[in-house]
Amino acid sequence: MRQEAGRVDTRLNSRSPHNLQSSLENPKNALEKSLLMEVVCPIDSQFSQQICLLLEPPSSLQVQEHFDGLITSKQCCGIQVKPSNDYGKGVYADLDFEEGDLVLKDQMLFGVQHSSNKIDCLVCSFCFRFIGSIELQIGRKLYLQGLGNPKDCFDLASSDGSDKEDQLEFQQCSSTSSRNKFQLPTECVESLMHEKLALPRSMKFPLPSAIICPGGCKEVYYCSKSCAQADWDLCHSLLCTGEDSKSLSKKALSKFIEHANETNDIFLLAAKAVCCTILKYRKLKAAYSKEKEKNPISNGFGNHSFALLLKAWKPLSMGYKRRWWDCVALPDDVDTSDETAFRMQIRQLAFESLELLKAAIFDEECSPLFSLEVYGHIIGMFELNNLDLVVASPVEDYFLYIDDLPEAEKKEVDEITRPFLNALGEDYSVCCQGTAFFPIQSCMNHSCCPSAKAFKRDEDRDGQATIIACRPIRKGEEVTISYIDEDLQLEERQALLADYGFRCKCPRCTQEEAKIQ
Ligand SMILES: [Zn+2]
Ligand SMILES: [Zn+2]
Ligand SMILES: [Zn+2]
Repeated sequence: MRQEAGRVDTRLNSRSPHNLQSSLENPKNALEKSLLMEVVCPIDSQFSQQICLLLEPPSSLQVQEHFDGLITSKQCCGIQVKPSNDYGKGVYADLDFEEGDLVLKDQMLFGVQHSSNKIDCLVCSFCFRFIGSIELQIGRKLYLQGLGNPKDCFDLASSDGSDKEDQLEFQQCSSTSSRNKFQLPTECVESLMHEKLALPRSMKFPLPSAIICPGGCKEVYYCSKSCAQADWDLCHSLLCTGEDSKSLSKKALSKFIEHANETNDIFLLAAKAVCCTILKYRKLKAAYSKEKEKNPISNGFGNHSFALLLKAWKPLSMGYKRRWWDCVALPDDVDTSDETAFRMQIRQLAFESLELLKAAIFDEECSPLFSLEVYGHIIGMFELNNLDLVVASPVEDYFLYIDDLPEAEKKEVDEITRPFLNALGEDYSVCCQGTAFFPIQSCMNHSCCPSAKAFKRDEDRDGQATIIACRPIRKGEEVTISYIDEDLQLEERQALLADYGFRCKCPRCTQEEAKIQ
């Protein structure tokens, strides 16, 4: 049993699109195909002027105003975002911090749980807190793992299992299943999942109960009504596949989601960004129309629709962007001679995803958002700025707690819990994993000798980013983090940072470069 505390290190996204590698098994072939099929997005040329305005980096003044407002509204004291000469903007200490101090807790703008992690952890789709109960978390995981393995005992099990039959099934399973050495009778897993079976001491780890989606889909759950409502208003009303979905076609939406799950779940995050902008645009427009009714003479905007779209887009305009296919790191298994083909294939994949999204939620007044150029820049922004989303598992805490009980008590409890721990196997402690964009954290610049790092403490049980000082930081000093593994050698570090579009000139790089010359 692993005895690590329930704390997890978070770092910037590992930036290779792993699930794309299999499509490049025959790169020569891929190159020929891609050259033949260079995709053209008609919206790119039709709305080129508006697209340029959307993608124009904000001025220093706009940056300053936006982040001053954001920091005040979120009450993040102790830091400032300021325009800086080298990299556009940076985060600066407004107070003295000691090593280990919390520098920033940043609420995400958009986040997603990785598709592959959804079997392991049931979390709130808005704040990413674990929900349900210890029993539900364990039962659901064992049940879904069973479904993922068609030959295993869950399909074979009958429903009238007496103890004897359970015992028999248990033995059959343990000899035939390749996944787990120890599998439990179906009934046992199901009663755990439906919370009919209580595990000893689990009430020491209470979780908020799971709230269903107000739109009626069975794909997302929440920790509270307020999270459900906030997600609905932010973007889920357009991305819901339930009865009350505001999308154009639930069928098209399901196709888009399926494509993202099969290729790269960053598309789900990009869809959230597009939906959020559309919904905000509609709200601004409704407010504007109301205002105009009251006062028909005043007309602030010439082309008011686009001015309102620009306003709705503002939070996204603040993130540093490059096109996804230009900035994504070349996976290790792709030869540099196939780089062009690889990048073209990524572009094509983004176009496929965009076309599916368009069929599901297109809004003519927001047309420029559906250009490949804008879609590519949104995904590129996530690629370059996102942090891994990590929330430690209460199931891990539960088993660690039992392991720590006084010997006599532990023996008694362990007899009941051991079969579940064995059935879960080494994965019992898997945390919630995903990727998220944090508006303030994403302004932090890189250094190979950073002053802070993303690190979740025991008390950090939701998806917010926590940035901790890793040495004393004085008032006025820049707060930096490392985008890469800073233990690497100079050359390797610079190669990785080249994908971010810069050459590092931090004190450590400067010193190490001077040594070479
Ligand atoms: Zn929540
Ligand atoms: Zn829904
Ligand atoms: Zn450096």
